Amino acid sequence: MSNKIAVGVLGATGMVGQRYIANLENHPWFEVTYVAASPRSAGKAYKEAVENRWLIGANIPAGVADLIVQDANDVSAAKGKCKFVFSALEMDKETIKSLEAAYAEAGIPVVSNASANRWTDDVPMLIPEINPQHTDIIAEQQKHHGWKKGFIAVKPNCSLQSYMAPIFALQQAGYPVKRMIVTTMQAVSGAGYPGVSSFDMIDNVVPYIGGEEEKTEKECLKILGTVKNGKIENAPGPLVAAHCNRVPVIDGHTACVSLEFDLPEDKKPSLEEIERVWTSFRGVPQELNLPNAPEHPIIVRHEVNRPQPRRDREADKGMAVSVGRLRKCPVFDIRFVALSHNTKRGAALGGILNAELLKAKGFFDNL
Ligand code: NAP
Repeated sequence: MSNKIAVGVLGATGMVGQRYIANLENHPWFEVTYVAASPRSAGKAYKEAVENRWLIGANIPAGVADLIVQDANDVSAAKGKCKFVFSALEMDKETIKSLEAAYAEAGIPVVSNASANRWTDDVPMLIPEINPQHTDIIAEQQKHHGWKKGFIAVKPNCSLQSYMAPIFALQQAGYPVKRMIVTTMQAVSGAGYPGVSSFDMIDNVVPYIGGEEEKTEKECLKILGTVKNGKIENAPGPLVAAHCNRVPVIDGHTACVSLEFDLPEDKKPSLEEIERVWTSFRGVPQELNLPNAPEHPIIVRHEVNRPQPRRDREADKGMAVSVGRLRKCPVFDIRFVALSHNTKRGAALGGILNAELLKAKGFFDNL
């Protein structure tokens, strides 16, 4: 009998759900014992439910292949089968919001990838290297709802994962950012499966991703916010203008960033100092040696033509952000290119790292 924590994956058949299944295989702390998806998949063995749409290179993990997929809308089915769930559901926001609350109400914590609860002000939106202290809000959340064991914690949108760590590292080192312009080039896997049609995507760039620019501009303020008065209060800045584009890349979101520091000219950091800050940046996941923490959260590339999705997305298990082309900006202060793996750091592995942080902090004790 395994002494690992039994976990469920809601939306286990989708793009992100499959990553969860693949990346939780042989996890030292967690074991997948429960899989759920839409009523279309419910009742089938997992391997049949994903037949012809298993998108991850490796085989379906043997421990999950024969699990019977349950209907994610039926919370009672999960009771007693798993201690907490990862949510990778794609449904309308209000349905996901009430469903995630129903799992928490039933005493099953939810570690979510969905955007539905990102703006709920007592729900932490975690990037463990940046705002691990936001887990402090969970006690308030449980008090607000009268939940004894259940709670909801979410991760932010994949579009901002690549540049949030570099921005935060600079702010933490005493170099606050006043405003920035971000142009993202986002992989097709970010749209789920089957996602954008090949007719729209091959030989093309689509300069619009519904809701993405708003998320890119706003979510950073909550991530950099403060736990105060029973909620997370947004940081006042930086001011962000985003251009989000869908490009014909399978995995890996790239962002071109130009930014201005909120500092007098003589206090602004040199390029050498910025590189030193990024290279030495470490956070709580590295201190705690969490299983999926990258050794170096930010990797600085010096080649003139890096980072690139195909070459750099797998850096440190797909969990490190690669940054390059750091140079002066004639309009703002500096500019650079940042890249992260959208379905690993930006989705499933980011969710798993959140769960590892929660476990290390004792949130899964006594479930
Ligand atoms: P996806 O490939 O479309 O998968 C959606 C999953 O939700 C499938 O398991 C599907 O089950 C299930 N589902 C759909 N309708 C349902 C219903 N009515 N009841 C219960 N389950 C239902 O989507 P995805 O790309 O994996 O995204 C999943 C979530 O992660 C979304 O909220 C998305 O915004 C977020 N996210 C995605 C990425 C990314 O890079 N793709 C990054 C960050 C966050 P069936 O297979 O049975 O239909």
